[in-house]
Amino acid sequence: MLNEVVYCPRLFFYEWVEGVFVHNADTVEGALRHEKLERKEDPLPTAAEAETGESIRARSVELASDRLGIIARIDLVEGEGGTLSPVDYKKGAPRQGDDGSPEAWPADRVQVGAQALILRDNGYACDEAVLYYSATRQRVRVALDAALVDEITAAIATARALAAGGRIPPPLVDSPKCPRCSLVTICLPDETRAAATLPAEPDDAAQLALFATDEPPRAAAEADGDGLGEVRRLMPARDDLRPLYLTGHGLTVGKSGEVLQVREYGRAKGAPSKLIQEVRLNEISQINLFGNVQLTPAAVQGLCAAEKPVAYFSFGGWFYGLTQGLGLRNVFLRREQFRRADDPRFALRVARDLVASKIRNQRTLLQRNHVEPPPVALLRLKRLAQQAQAATALDELLGIEGTAARLYFEHFAGMLKVEDGDGGAPAFDFRTRNRRPPRDPVNALLSFAYALLSKDLMITCHGIGFDPFVGFYHQPRYGRPALALDLMEGFRPLVADSAVLTAINSRMVGDTDFIRAGDAVALTPAGRKGFIRAYEQRIDTLVTHPLFGYRVTYRRVFEIQARLLARFISGEILRYPGFETR
Ligand code: SF4
Repeated sequence: MLNEVVYCPRLFFYEWVEGVFVHNADTVEGALRHEKLERKEDPLPTAAEAETGESIRARSVELASDRLGIIARIDLVEGEGGTLSPVDYKKGAPRQGDDGSPEAWPADRVQVGAQALILRDNGYACDEAVLYYSATRQRVRVALDAALVDEITAAIATARALAAGGRIPPPLVDSPKCPRCSLVTICLPDETRAAATLPAEPDDAAQLALFATDEPPRAAAEADGDGLGEVRRLMPARDDLRPLYLTGHGLTVGKSGEVLQVREYGRAKGAPSKLIQEVRLNEISQINLFGNVQLTPAAVQGLCAAEKPVAYFSFGGWFYGLTQGLGLRNVFLRREQFRRADDPRFALRVARDLVASKIRNQRTLLQRNHVEPPPVALLRLKRLAQQAQAATALDELLGIEGTAARLYFEHFAGMLKVEDGDGGAPAFDFRTRNRRPPRDPVNALLSFAYALLSKDLMITCHGIGFDPFVGFYHQPRYGRPALALDLMEGFRPLVADSAVLTAINSRMVGDTDFIRAGDAVALTPAGRKGFIRAYEQRIDTLVTHPLFGYRVTYRRVFEIQARLLARFISGEILRYPGFETR
């Protein structure tokens, strides 16, 4: 704990106040090393016994100091002649002193120094502590002098003040510590600092310039005085883990060791099962089940323990449920989310940016994909985005969004470029948006795309610690995931509609991939698979973030945007910047 306070107060706050822990390769290795040491627990003689001068080597010793109010598990206590030293094992290398000699890192010094102080407070003679750096196999001695005692006391006071203050400290500035920090993808240090320079109200001229020119986004923003500095991409551009989709009838997912096994059971009672797929738990990000797919209790337990969400869809593609592990720990964020959602002015500020971004993204999609971009509609959408940005009430915003949606869908058919259905009729004829049930193939695809997108934003909300049912634009209604719907607004055109256009225009789905029942049109299993491919391809596409200038997948953008909203809610940034591409 003291190590984190000295390394980075924000890291301390995340881990010890909010309880957010994430392992990376370094922390996993460190945890394994400590686990090994803890298995070798040896008792520490009492202070009186230690004074007899015998050689002492006690492993994994837990001691506390009531005076300082701290507790430590010490890897090793060693000594002879009545004087003891704590030894702390570190994975890395020591830092180089000015004369090239190995030195302890400041955070390690304070941590092991506190262990030495605890030994003293328990009556043991202790003048120094030792750090063992495994990478170079070097021992570094740390004298427990007055200066170190002052540093330790100050670090304890800082920890207490941070915990009592309840406000997360700002991120480090351009620090070389961040790339190695296990919480870098949660903290977003450079992004948070850059977004904090945005004004509370968007500069309309800057917004429009950003939106109407072909300059790289950051250059345009800087030219207009947004002042976003250099932002390092400290997270991987894309996720190595893949979602698993299971759409067959009568499948059962079981678990053997760390492997999920998908089996198909014969229809006859007692018929043998056939193993049709195996996938390692640590290679998937989520699992999506359509229709009659069952999970064994062992599979549910394994998926929950590994924090892999399970999303349930009806056979027709209706998203109706989610199973999660116990990962939802960030109560502080949810408390602030509820408080802010009850503030109509705050809710309106978020809603204006969400709706304005959605309209601009609809306009961009038309501009990019329409066979002949309609100039009047584009101009009207531009104005509607401006009006959304200036709306004074949620009702007004709803009206603006509705008008923009009508205009956008009026021209949606101009982005469909396949016209060879049976009998010469257009295969994908789109006139207007309809749902519940969709009455034509394009609407069936749009509904399915929005279901997949809302599932992904629900999972994002859960992962961050938001309550997906408490939103800012979408108002509370029984069973409505209002925040997930809020966050998906800007991505409807960019991800869902775009995936529909790709699926149709590149023939990933064809007119035989739909079934009709009365007025309703639904996808066949083959059509659903084809569309899932188009959707996954879309969210795995690299896109330039308009504020930060680096390229990441849409799946990463979902998380970045949700974390920016969390920053706005916590007051770290002055505005929620919606995601817009050009
Ligand atoms: S990423 Fe950097 S600023 Fe953020 S917690 Fe880690 S070290 Fe601190």
